[in-house]
Amino acid sequence: MIPVNSVLQVGHFPELMQAEINRRFTPIYHLDPHAPAPAGQFEAILVRSNTKLPEALVKQIPSILMVATCGVGYDNLPLAYLKERGIKATNTPGVLNDAVCELAIGMMLGLLRRIPESEAFVKSGAWSKTPFKLATTLAGKTVGIVGMGRIGQDLAKRLEPFKVEIAYSGPSPKQVPYTYYRDLKDLARNSNVLFLACPANSDTDNMVNAEVLNALGPSAFLINIARGSVVDEEALLYALQHKKIAGAALDVFKNEPNPNPAFLRLDNVLLTPHIGSATTETRIAMTNLAVDNLEAFFAQQPLPSEVPN
Ligand code: NAP
Repeated sequence: MIPVNSVLQVGHFPELMQAEINRRFTPIYHLDPHAPAPAGQFEAILVRSNTKLPEALVKQIPSILMVATCGVGYDNLPLAYLKERGIKATNTPGVLNDAVCELAIGMMLGLLRRIPESEAFVKSGAWSKTPFKLATTLAGKTVGIVGMGRIGQDLAKRLEPFKVEIAYSGPSPKQVPYTYYRDLKDLARNSNVLFLACPANSDTDNMVNAEVLNALGPSAFLINIARGSVVDEEALLYALQHKKIAGAALDVFKNEPNPNPAFLRLDNVLLTPHIGSATTETRIAMTNLAVDNLEAFFAQQPLPSEVPN
């Protein structure tokens, strides 16, 4: 049981998720994260991963002991400050892997086979005038995964039946049967398709830069299902405009929901509006895991998914 008036919900949740929250308990709403904190003895905050939780807001509420974010990425939280105050944080790992991996596979096939462009071609009536462009076969290629974590490993398993070689990079090798490269440039050089599935943090900020894109090369594709901050977008735009890489599929951007308009003018990109976890089943599961964490906190039980801090 979550005590009445104890949880502050910061920011909006989509209707489906809000209904799921309200089915389990009633938070106090603080829809504008930048507005002054309301009065109250709140012990926990509930927030979505696409809402940045301002440190200044948490500072105004000395009674806060726990923050539950709904999403696996926790780059929206002021982690250093939470640690300083001894405030626990939880996220929602695992329950969104299927949805994110299904989107990732769809983006890969859509990009290599130019599926959105071919649909526009048929709908425009151009088919009767000229044949459609040739595309790229996946089989026989090497697929690189940057970040062999929960999503990276689920993605690799889904890729195996596509007759590809799989390789990956990250801070340390994992117990997986794929080729490991410590250096991202080496992985890029050896990949025909490069997926980004690592967290957003100070180490990964702009990690995919001009050097990495040049190593990837003119016949290779980049697919970002991680976070916009991982990619130097100016370098990516240059690489796409000058055909330094073959194309990119991007679910995440630096300035969401207003991505750099230069991306919208390119014909070698497939763009989606940060929908990795956006299925009904997944959003319900994420919301329930976030609320499970809140319930465990108030019951003084171990937290189901605490963020390491
Ligand atoms: P995870 O289990 O923590 O996996 C992340 C992996 O990235 C770990 O294996 C980690 O290595 C590795 N990593 C850390 N720093 C790295 C670096 N500098 N270079 C390469 N790899 C690095 O997290 P997850 O559940 O798979 O989620 C991954 C990310 O996907 C999330 O952080 C989130 O930002 C993003 N995501 C996006 C969407 C979407 O809607 N598009 C949805 C869900 C998640 P170690 O294990 O050695 O630390």
